[in-house]
Amino acid sequence: MVSVPSSEACLHRIDVSVYRVPLSVPVSTSFGIMADRPAVFLRLTDTEGAFGWGEVFANWPAAGAEHRARLLMLDLAEMVLGTTLQAPSELFSRLERQTHIRALQCGEWGPFRQVIAGLDVAVHDLFARKAGLPLRTFLNAKALDCVPAYASGIHVKDGIDAITLQRKAGHRAFKVKVGFGGGADLAQLSATAASLKPGERLFADANQAWSLPEALAFLNAAKDLDLGWMEEPILADAPESDWVELARATNIPLAGGENIAGRVDFDRVITSKVLKYVQPDVAKWGGISGCLGVAHRALEAGLTYCPHFLGGGIGLMASAHILAATGGSGLLEVDVNPNPLREDFKAAANQVAGGYFKLSEDIGLGIDELPPGIERFKTLELTKTFGH
Ligand SMILES: [Mg+2]
Repeated sequence: MVSVPSSEACLHRIDVSVYRVPLSVPVSTSFGIMADRPAVFLRLTDTEGAFGWGEVFANWPAAGAEHRARLLMLDLAEMVLGTTLQAPSELFSRLERQTHIRALQCGEWGPFRQVIAGLDVAVHDLFARKAGLPLRTFLNAKALDCVPAYASGIHVKDGIDAITLQRKAGHRAFKVKVGFGGGADLAQLSATAASLKPGERLFADANQAWSLPEALAFLNAAKDLDLGWMEEPILADAPESDWVELARATNIPLAGGENIAGRVDFDRVITSKVLKYVQPDVAKWGGISGCLGVAHRALEAGLTYCPHFLGGGIGLMASAHILAATGGSGLLEVDVNPNPLREDFKAAANQVAGGYFKLSEDIGLGIDELPPGIERFKTLELTKTFGH
């Protein structure tokens, strides 16, 4: 007799590993340089041997990746192991509640939220795998199998060359990083915009670089470039009145969300509609549970959900599945900088054609095991089982 996996999961084991890929060419943002590409991958296993993968945000601070892995094992594992779940979304709200005092005590809201996000992705992958369904179909039976995508992580000074390359790789939309210095930025952005082919789209991301007057000046100067959106022109936590003033002053849609956490704060920006593109990061806050809710509320408000993500292959696949399950006109952010922690995952590499990212029919996130090629980049590996 074939044994059918149960629809509940008793969580029995956590494995977490940290990776760092050295870079010959650092990744630049307006607020700092990434000298290597880190990733924190976790695997959750239940008592029936079913498993799921998750990824924890680790791009910043530079020393943060190993800390998050230890936080998972020393502070959160005891709240996870031995737990029986009837549905994957049960874990997220329980962990938010259970870690509140500890996060408040140390002021480390971000690391706790990021570890919980990774656990939420893993438990969704686990349930989808047990159900024998791709994650997107587990979330929504009518989910499509491909999503619009854009090439991301491009410095504006490299805009024309990178877009030429990414066009050949199948992309039709591109995002460049700005905020490195007014005059040069604008000239390079204008030249990049002028290099686009008909039907292609260009977005810009200032990574919170500007004051309100600087942002107003840049957006005014860029008003004829036909930008699809301007992302984080000012601080994510700038007064709401600044965001409202900016949104009123420009015809360029504003985007943001990677530095917003929590249902209350997302609901605030969705209600005010200052952001036309809402971009939660699945590995920074919320996991599938939180981001799916934000995505639906954004769509209901007439806004566009675009997952933010610039990490490894697991988080990219989680973002793709949420977008496919949600629908709407949002695009998947696909980092195009060389990174084996993303590219070595078969499900995540070379999936873009004609501007769309194709998802497979494989169960869960489409990831059975970590690519063997990344083993050499491992800096830390920890395991914990229930009762030990
Ligand atoms: Mg951004």
